[in-house]
Amino acid sequence: MNPAAGTALVLALAAWCCAVRATPDYRVEVAPDLASLRVTACLGTDDAGFAPRAAAALGYLRTARALPDDTPLAPRDGRLVPATGQRCLRYTIDLAAAAAADRRYRALAPGNRAVPVPTWLWTPAGGAADAEIHFELPPGVRVSVPWIPLEEPATWRIPPSPRSDDAVIALGAFTRCTFSQADTRFDVAVLRGPGPHRPAMLARWLATAVATAARAHGRLGARHVQVVVVPVADADEAVPFGQVIRDGGSAVQFFVDAARAESAFLADWTAPHEFSHLLLPYVEADAKWVAEGLASYYQNVLMARAGSYDEARAWAKLVAGFGRGEHSVPALSLDDALPVGGWDGIMKTYWGGAAVFLLADVELRRRSAGAAGLDQALAGLAACCLPSPRTWTAPDLFAALDAQAPFAVFTPLYARHHAAAAFPAWRPALRALGVVVGDDGSVTLDDGAPDAALRRAIMDGGSRSPVPLATCADG
Ligand SMILES: [Zn+2]
Repeated sequence: MNPAAGTALVLALAAWCCAVRATPDYRVEVAPDLASLRVTACLGTDDAGFAPRAAAALGYLRTARALPDDTPLAPRDGRLVPATGQRCLRYTIDLAAAAAADRRYRALAPGNRAVPVPTWLWTPAGGAADAEIHFELPPGVRVSVPWIPLEEPATWRIPPSPRSDDAVIALGAFTRCTFSQADTRFDVAVLRGPGPHRPAMLARWLATAVATAARAHGRLGARHVQVVVVPVADADEAVPFGQVIRDGGSAVQFFVDAARAESAFLADWTAPHEFSHLLLPYVEADAKWVAEGLASYYQNVLMARAGSYDEARAWAKLVAGFGRGEHSVPALSLDDALPVGGWDGIMKTYWGGAAVFLLADVELRRRSAGAAGLDQALAGLAACCLPSPRTWTAPDLFAALDAQAPFAVFTPLYARHHAAAAFPAWRPALRALGVVVGDDGSVTLDDGAPDAALRRAIMDGGSRSPVPLATCADG
């Protein structure tokens, strides 16, 4: 760089960094070897210093200086506070150490990193909502984030959002794949790690799972979804773990054994389950059975609609789940099962919640003579209220679903079941549908049952969206 250009850059940066905006700004320079980040951060007008959301972030902070006079700044009581009249600072982060803190990311190939945002982003008190953030990337280095893209390249807005877990960014020479489903854009980072690098196959699997989730009513309740695919070695299954993260946007993270056959990925329920979560807004963590119940019910219904399961198999999987849930922590309510119930509590949470949504779906279909169901209520919810920047209470969500349905079935089911220890009565509903459960747990279907047509309609059809075509590019 020649001196004149350097002077111009300093002046431009000084002008950028110290303009007083209502919201905070970040400029993140990524070292070519991914060893460090240099972050220039400016406070918004109402902010009084930066603090990390995770206490561990203090351990990754290497240097901090106040701008524009470039004086050293030390954290005091865990905060970085510029002197009066100064709103900007520059700090460096040991990215290698921050990325190694979570052992799930330690096996990534050199040149690939996944890093939780709270380990490096110092935010004003009250969070970084509505901040603007820009990345300066060396050649060959890509970044994947969960935020809203702005027109300027490598620039995003961090919007207000609930927080279910910590957002993660991916950096490096990963492969980016993108596709769209209705008005939702999926931005997939396929990281390199143990096992073969098969981004095209993994993108096909994800696009298929998204099309499966869209068989509820054609749309998902987010505009942008970051997907991070982390390879693991020698797992017991194709997709040992998946997780939706709401933190500054919607994201889904999958840990995969990419050596497995494509057919093993397509048969796996994890991705349809995770993408089904996006049919709902984020519901309070104290009522996990709501989100997990909906996803557990729909993962089977939607995989049947997509042809991955035949109808009897989908019902058999639901029956098996209800059985597991019914026999788990029988003294605990849906609200209480997860915090104190261990693995059995998880079974009751997931399958007790699934039973509530089955009962709602069946009652809506029965009372409307098949004209309405859970799909239509969710479609109405998406049209009125999604994406949503806030955390919903369970009663709020059930009332909103009732507002979209011809009959109020959700709130009465919530009132009956959320604090009751008794497992929702799924057997009579399945009997009327013609799902016959043998003494050995086997399932046969009876087309002479009174609600057999409703049973077939639940598993058949839905919104038939074609599988989106993904395009991939290497970094
Ligand atoms: Zn889930």
